[in-house]
Formats: sequence, C-alpha cells, structure tokens
Amino acid sequence: MKKEDKIMKERKMPMLPLRGIVVFPYMILHFDVGRTKSMKALEDAMLIDQTIFLSAQIDASEEDPGKEDVYPVGTIARIKQLLRLPGDTIRVLVEGLERAKILSWSDENPYFTVAVASMKTPRSPRNKSEMEALARQVIEHFERYAKLTNRISPDASLSVSAIDDFSRLPDVVASNMNTGVDMKQAILAEPSPKKRLEKLLDILVKEIDILEIERNINSKVRQQIDKTQREYYLREQLKAIQKELGDQEIGRSDESDEYSQKIEEANLPEEVLKKALKELDRLKKMHASSAESGVIRTYLDWLIEMPWQESTKENLDLSHAEEILAKDHYGLEKVKERMLEHLAIRQLREGMHGPIICLAGPPGVGKTSVAKSIAEALNRNYVRMSLGGVRDEAEIRGHRRTYVGAMPGRIITAIKQAGTKNPLILLDEIDKMSSDFRGDPSSAMLEVLDSEQNKDFRDHYLELPYDLSDVLFITTANYKDAIPRPLLDRMEVIDIAGYTDNEKEQIAHRHLIPKQLALHGIGEHRLKIDPAAIREIIHHYTREAGVRNLERTLTSVMRKAAKELVLDPNLVIRVNAKTIQKYLGARKFLVDKAGRVDQVGVARGLAWTPVGGDTLEIEVTLMQGDGSLELTGQLGDVMKESARIARSHVRSKAAEFGIDPMFHKKVDMHLHVPEGAIPKDGPSAGITLATAMVSALTGIAVRHNVAMTGEITLRGRVLPIGGLKEKTLAAHRAGIDTIIIPMENKKDIEDIPEKVLEKLQMIPVSRFDQVLRHALVKMPSEKTSHQPAVMRQEAAQNKKTVDLEPVRNTKTIDQETPQNKSTIKKDEGDHPCS
Ligand code: ADP
Repeated sequence: MKKEDKIMKERKMPMLPLRGIVVFPYMILHFDVGRTKSMKALEDAMLIDQTIFLSAQIDASEEDPGKEDVYPVGTIARIKQLLRLPGDTIRVLVEGLERAKILSWSDENPYFTVAVASMKTPRSPRNKSEMEALARQVIEHFERYAKLTNRISPDASLSVSAIDDFSRLPDVVASNMNTGVDMKQAILAEPSPKKRLEKLLDILVKEIDILEIERNINSKVRQQIDKTQREYYLREQLKAIQKELGDQEIGRSDESDEYSQKIEEANLPEEVLKKALKELDRLKKMHASSAESGVIRTYLDWLIEMPWQESTKENLDLSHAEEILAKDHYGLEKVKERMLEHLAIRQLREGMHGPIICLAGPPGVGKTSVAKSIAEALNRNYVRMSLGGVRDEAEIRGHRRTYVGAMPGRIITAIKQAGTKNPLILLDEIDKMSSDFRGDPSSAMLEVLDSEQNKDFRDHYLELPYDLSDVLFITTANYKDAIPRPLLDRMEVIDIAGYTDNEKEQIAHRHLIPKQLALHGIGEHRLKIDPAAIREIIHHYTREAGVRNLERTLTSVMRKAAKELVLDPNLVIRVNAKTIQKYLGARKFLVDKAGRVDQVGVARGLAWTPVGGDTLEIEVTLMQGDGSLELTGQLGDVMKESARIARSHVRSKAAEFGIDPMFHKKVDMHLHVPEGAIPKDGPSAGITLATAMVSALTGIAVRHNVAMTGEITLRGRVLPIGGLKEKTLAAHRAGIDTIIIPMENKKDIEDIPEKVLEKLQMIPVSRFDQVLRHALVKMPSEKTSHQPAVMRQEAAQNKKTVDLEPVRNTKTIDQETPQNKSTIKKDEGDHPCS
C-alpha cells in the first residue's frame, strides 16, 4: 500500500482550473473551455495520457487564476471526448477518476503543471454498522432534499439508493446537489469516508431546512397571487355576465363606489367601519335586483347615517336653564326646582347620570314641554318617543336582519333622528307599555335606562353595540302605579298633579294665547281675549286637569276669528264672556254644583282618573226584597268588594246608627255609580259607599257641599288613598267646600295650592263614624229608630203577606211591627231630619 502511495505521489499532469464546478470521482460531465491557457492544457493532456487534474477556482470570476486561487484538492479525470465548437471554445467530456491533492506547481508550460498525490481511502471501514446507519440517513435526507428542490431527476435519487460503497456515496450525492462550490469542495477535500458522510448529512439537514422555509414562503406568495388573480378573473367574468344581462346592471359598480365613498366620509369608528366594508364586499358580489342586496343597502344606509361620534356641546349653566324653564312655563315651581337640582348634581359630578327622571301626571299638564325646555337649556337635541301600546320587545331592540322587513328598534331610530349621540330622549307614556307572548319590552327598557348596562346597548338589527351612556332619558307617565315595578325603581318620580282654574287662566294668558296667536299669524293688537272669556272656556268648554283642551279651544276661537280678520283688514276683535258663545257654540259643561240640595242616599266621592281627578256621585236605593245587593256602573272587583265591606260594616253598626238590624233580610239594596259607561275601580270609594248606604237606610240626607275619599275596613277604619291633589282640585272645580280625607293623607295637604285651600275645608278622619258626623246633616243615633220608606211600606203591607205566607212571616212581622209603627213618620222624599 505504501509503495502504491509512493508511486501515485509523483504524478505530474496539466491542471485545468474549473469555474463554479467541482468534479467528483466517478462523475461524468461535460463543460466548455474558452480560456487559451486551459485549452492548451487540454491539448497537452490529450497528447500525454488523456488524464488531467481538475480543481475548482476559489473565486469563479478570476480570469487568470494563480496558485492561491484554486483549491488544493481536486480530481484526476480522464478526458473522454473533445469537441471544437464555433468561436474558439472546446466542449470537453470528462470522467472523474480519483481525488488528489496538489503537492507542487510548475509553470514551465503556458499552463500550470502540478504534481499530485491521490488520496486513497480504506476499502472496508471498521465501524461498518455505524457507516451503514450514516449512509441510510444520507440517502433518506437526499430523497427529501430531491423532493423539495424539484431539480433532481428521479433517476439520480434511485441511483443514489443503489450505491453500497460508503466512500462513493457522498461523492455522488454531493455532485447531484445544487449547493455552492465551497460546500462541495469541503466534501471532496475530506479523505475519511465517515467524516465525509457526516459532513454531507450536516449540509443536507441545513439545506432541507432552508428549502422548507423557502417553500413555505413560496406557497404563501403563490396563494396570495392566486387569490388576487382568481378574484380579478371572477370579477371580470361577472362584469361580462352582467353586461350580457342588460341595462339594469349598468351603474352597478357606480353604486358600490358611491357606498365606499360614503363609508369613507362617514367617520365611522373602527368596528363599524370593518362591518360596513364587509357588507359592502358582500353587496359587490350580489345581483343588484336580489332581495338580499336591498337588505344590505338599507343596512349600510343605517350604519352610515347613525351618529356614531357626533354630539352637541352640553350647556350645564344653571342660571341659563332656570331662565329657559321660567320663560316657557308658568307655575310648576316644584318641578322646576327638582329639575334644576338634578342638573346641579350633573354639573358637580360630570358623567354621573343619577336616577332617570319620570314626570308623572294627567295629560296636558306640560310634561312634554318641560322636557323640551330642558333639552333646549342643555343644548341637547330633543326626540320624543312614544311608548304607548308598545308590547313587543323587538320594538325596543329591533328585529334581526334575517326577518323580512327588519328594522332597528325605536331607541336606535330615535338616536338617528336626533343626529347626535347625546340627545335628550323623552320616553313618553312609559306606563302604557304592556307585555305579551312576544316578550316583555320593559326588560329591554331596563337595559336602556341602566347606566351600567347601556354603554353597549345591542340592537338586534344593527348587530353592533351602541353607546347610550351620553343620552339623557326623561320619561313621562299618566299613572305612576302602572309603571312596571323594576322600571319604577330606577326612576325619580316628579308629580305634576294638574292646575287650578286660576293657574289655567294665567297659563292661557301668558303662554297659550301669545304662542297660538303667533302660530296663527294674528297680531296681538287685533285679537284680544278677555280674562272673563278665558274663565268661561275653563269652566264651561273644558273639563280637564291640564291645559291641552284649553289650548285647543283657544285655537278654535282663533281660527274662527282669523276668517273675520281676513275679510275685514281693519277689524279688531275683543272676545269676552258673552261673545265667546259666538265662536264656540253653547256651553259644553255646566258646572254641576254638587246637586245643590242635600239628598238621601246620594254621597259624593272623589275619583282619580288618568285625566286628573273627578267627582263621583254614588247612589243607593232600597227596595222591598230579601236582602240582595246589586251593584251597577261598571265597577271593578276591588270596588265591588269595597261595597260589600261597606255593607257589612253598616250591618255591624246597625244598632248604633238606629237602623233595623234585620235590614239585610228585608230590603234589596241597589248601588249605582253614574256615568255607567266608564269603568271604575279602586278602594278609595269605601267611605262614600258606606255613607250613601247609611243615608239610605236611616233616611238622613248627605250634605250637598261635602265630598269624601277614603278606603273603609270592616271595622270602620278609614285608610289612606292616592292622588289627593288631583281629587282636591276636582272637588274645587265642582264647587264643593268640604272634603273628608283619611287622617294619614293629612301630610299631602301641603301639595295643594293655597288658593284652593283658602276655599276648601279639609277634614281628616280616621273612623267611619267621624265621616258620618261631617257628611250627614244629622248624626244618626241608637236612641232614634230610623226607618226608610221601603221598610215602612213593608210594615203597612204585612197583613197581606201574612195571609199569603202565614207561617214564615208571622214571627218576623210580630217582632218588627211595633217598632215600625212608632218610628216612621214621613215619606222618603222629605227625610225626617232635614
Ligand atoms: P303633557 O305632556 O303633560 O301631556 P304637554 O307638555 O303636551 O302636556 O302640554 C300641553 C300644552 O300645554 C303645551 O302647549 C304646553 O306648552 C302647555 N303647558 C302646559 N303646562 C304649562 C305651563 N305650566 N306653562 C305654560 N304652558 C304650559
């Protein structure tokens, strides 16, 4: 072996520097040679023994490489073929024989001649299985590498796997790889097959890594390009199809352009913008006349037109607010005061909302117009939203877009109408909201009014949260007890009970008339309405707690006057109490001065109605019979129970009141509350019912100037009632001067205007006998037996009755006849004590 090495050592041969290629043993390849020096070397080699030493240039761009410019290890190769090509180049086919190392150089020829020593390797390595494992690894990795590069023929990978020579394997693999010269050279220069395999494996792993990264990047880029190209292609196709379909599609892209411009200009918050663009994208892909595209257009219109960011600058200046409230409204001192307090708190703690204000009272007392003034004072846009009759949750929250004809709910609609995100929204008649199987709107309202939750209020249609926290909500109600309880808990109720006649007159004079004159375009100097005429309207043409009808009636006076004023430009009209009939016709309401005379069996109660208070006559009449109780006048269950309670109490006290204790067996009682078409209910008529009964049973008349209100218990206690102020005002209107009220309502007297109190005597009571003391013209007593006419008639007829039913009636009549005879002196009409 050593000897052989020695022989090999001394081989001298021409050297050809290669540019960009490394030739390995056993490798056959051709390359072109153009440099004269190299051509000369080839020619000389052909003349000697057709072998040549091939070594790679370190720097491929070097035209005339010196000793340092080529790698010291190369390959001895056999020249198999030379082919002269046109233009002084030679194509040469070589076969690598063995790797060799340059020992010395000589430049006696025009080219380099080198003395080289071949680098033989041991044939059978000692650690065969390790080599085997390494070789398998290399093959496996090479296959993977081949797949990834796509540039290696399947034959090459096949031939690689067939090689069982461990020293040859790395050379073949390396020669097939597309790596740089330096890496290939590293393999070539390594004499140990094991190290060669290791180095190669290393290189393969790195290359595979790089290739995989490359492939990922490539596939991403390709996907992107594919998608854009595909969309472009489809869009072009769509355009072509749309053109084919005809005119209706022309202008389609204009429309989507218009939307994208609108969206761009709308200053939408990011989330909304994203949603709008997504919908626009869907719209673009849709047929213009499809139902769905219409739905999307409407939706986009909503998104674009909603005030997402716009707001007005709030004015929290208290004196400014006070001024505006005073200018627009007469009286209402308590309401104004409360509103100002509310604003003051808001000013002290900006961003604090506090409870929602609820203005409660009958129609026409100025609830809406107070709210409007507040909006003006605060410089907020004003929107009124009526909740009357809302029974479906979807009316508040909207319908999902999947429904045909879906729309946003009323809240979102109101905001859009306001055009800002901080309007004042008046939720009118919140007590008229009801619920049914479609859901409870009040729970949706709860969310709207709750400042904790309404930051991102979700409307089903809009699908995006909307911030309601800047909205100032004010609610109104006619009857606060009808407001759903959880809603009521979140509100601060401010009662506006109604106006006295005097207040109404002032309101008409100061506000309604100037306002309506201006609206009708009539100069104040041409039409004058006297205070007496105003009073006439208040008393005889309207019956209400507020001033809405008063205002309406005044406008009808103005309309009629306008005609005359136009016909005669010089005319000046003065309407007084007498001439008012000319404009309004005959009086509509004659003030019922409470019957004027004291009557038996008729008591006057006070009722609360949604339009304020009213007086209510209760009539009781007795007939011969067997003790039935008939109730008419559309009484509700509670009122019917009240009537039974009243009768039981009267029965229990019959002896005390000097009434025949057996009256409940002998007389039928019919109780009627006039104005029978109007349903009535509630417990507050209790004492009135009982008074009318006692009066009928005793024949003692009820004072005509007295009205009363209060619940009665079985044992005759008088319990408190609601709406005292409204009821008192109604009594005042009806010309009554004494009101009996429950003791516990005494505290409410301070709410009643002083002007009214001056003319009214309020009598608080806690027991029913006190009621009688003040209501009846005379207090019944147990010493005097009172007997109404029907019972007396019965006594007169008793003979006949005995004849007809001798056994059953005899006893009864016997018992009662003496008493009857002694007490009844007069007829029913003129009662004994008047
Ligand atoms: P409501 O909302 O309570 O039903 P409105 O606010 O609609 O009542 O009032 C009806 C009319 O009466 C409006 O024109 C209002 O300006 C007027 N009005 C009510 N109260 C007053 C008042 N205290 N001062 C001036 N005008 C009033």
